[in-house]
Amino acid sequence: MTAAPPAPVRAIPRPPAPSGPLAQLHRDIRRCTACPLAATRRHACPGEGPERAAVMVVGEAPGYDEDRAGRPFVGRAGQLLTELMEGAGLSRSRVYIANTVRCLPPKTGGSAEPPQEAVEACRMFLEREIALVRPAVLVALGRAALRALVSPKLAISDAHGRAYTRDGRWVYPMYHPSYLLRNGNDPALRRAFEDDMAGLGRLLRVHAATLRPRWSLEAIAWLYRSAPTPHTPNAHSRATTWHVLERFALPQVDGATITWDIRGVHEMFRTPSAIQELLRRYVGRPVRLDLTNSSLRRGVRATILAGTT
Ligand code: SF4
Repeated sequence: MTAAPPAPVRAIPRPPAPSGPLAQLHRDIRRCTACPLAATRRHACPGEGPERAAVMVVGEAPGYDEDRAGRPFVGRAGQLLTELMEGAGLSRSRVYIANTVRCLPPKTGGSAEPPQEAVEACRMFLEREIALVRPAVLVALGRAALRALVSPKLAISDAHGRAYTRDGRWVYPMYHPSYLLRNGNDPALRRAFEDDMAGLGRLLRVHAATLRPRWSLEAIAWLYRSAPTPHTPNAHSRATTWHVLERFALPQVDGATITWDIRGVHEMFRTPSAIQELLRRYVGRPVRLDLTNSSLRRGVRATILAGTT
């Protein structure tokens, strides 16, 4: 029996063209010849989406369809990404989508991972695009984006679905959707993708709810693993408030020292950079996290630094 042919790729609507500095950046990317990929590409692919977006997705590099269209994530992986985002209530039209490298890399030994030389040469475009779009959350799709945005030491299999920070912005790694495609849309892997997408929603809510020092009940509800969500009918009742505050320890400030029992905090926030950012938000000042005698499983201690945010 022959395998059924893959479903045709659905056209992804083109968002409005950018203006001003973002339009200039896109022209610079289309004309760029800074690395050897310029010689073999058909079209360079700048990012696309709203000029200001709360979420910016950063993938690895254009594929065959993207190279022909000059647009990111318009092939099968892009279609799957769009489907997964929309399944989690996040419309593609509200997300800015870009890649670590903007030109199609040649296939080496079956892999199309961009060469390090191209990643380094293209980094300037990614940094300029982040500075212009100013997202609250950068979603790092796959290994190349994770390395470029967080650390070359992290593995995507460990980091996916967890929150990190970079220059005061959240970074949220996820598997690249092409990984799911290569694995035949495996149901267990798809569930992991869907869980990570749900985690992105939680991260956006925690971001919004912790922007001001002294968190609201809503912030606590989203930050802790099993607190009632603010949408439960009695979430704002006095009884629920006491229940949440008794059950989940908030950071304790004593002079310049802040300690926090984080046993109830959702696993996705238990990275040093996420905990440090949350503590900075809680006290409204920069903090230095000291993990020497602490544990990201139990409690942490930090020093509140002088100055304001
Ligand atoms: S991959 Fe980036 S740096 Fe290299 S030619 Fe394309 S746009 Fe320029």
